[in-house]
Amino acid sequence: MKRHLEALQAVGVNEMPIARKEEARESKTVALKRLEQEVIACTRCSLYRTRTRAVFGEGHPNAKLVFVGEAPGRDEDLQGRPFVGAAGKLLTKMIEAMGFSREEVYICNVLKDRPPNNRTPLPEEVNACLPFLIQQLEIIQPKIICALGASAAKALLGPDIAIMKIRGQVRNYHGIPLIATLHPAYLLRNPAAKKLVWQDLKHVKRLLDAESLATD
Ligand code: URA
Repeated sequence: MKRHLEALQAVGVNEMPIARKEEARESKTVALKRLEQEVIACTRCSLYRTRTRAVFGEGHPNAKLVFVGEAPGRDEDLQGRPFVGAAGKLLTKMIEAMGFSREEVYICNVLKDRPPNNRTPLPEEVNACLPFLIQQLEIIQPKIICALGASAAKALLGPDIAIMKIRGQVRNYHGIPLIATLHPAYLLRNPAAKKLVWQDLKHVKRLLDAESLATD
């Protein structure tokens, strides 16, 4: 597909034909479904013992913007969907304030299973689960990643990252621009920090505007 597009671009065709877009979208949907089945069956770390439901992620398979959080909480574990509790409601508002809907973007987490009492993920849990996130990003190929909070930023950029220091900056995740910002759960405890996050999201939006729409 990539070679085909490059060949088209070489002769001045920059728009993917509609049928091709549909084909690419379908193959991404299939690839995500297959990966989700692996996640549902996963026993790579001990969290599978305490999960109600694995939380794979959801959204548009062709999303240009992917949000990555830390791990499912209680509501997410019960529903099998990411960011549906209090922090999720705030995230939804933030996405809508950017001019998008949840359905246009993609939302997922570093960990697919809930850690007991929402504790911070252990390094061995991140190591076990990260390959799933990496594959999700490879399938979706977003134009920009927004990491929500320190766990997501560290998982994608490296353990030495300090979220307060790098938030709002454009970093590089394997060729994809990544902007980290503060986690919505942090904002529920520290509402004064919302203005920082809004600055970061406006930065994300500016980068996306160069791409015009949230999905192909
Ligand atoms: N916090 C997260 O990091 N992810 C969720 O899905 C919900 C809360």
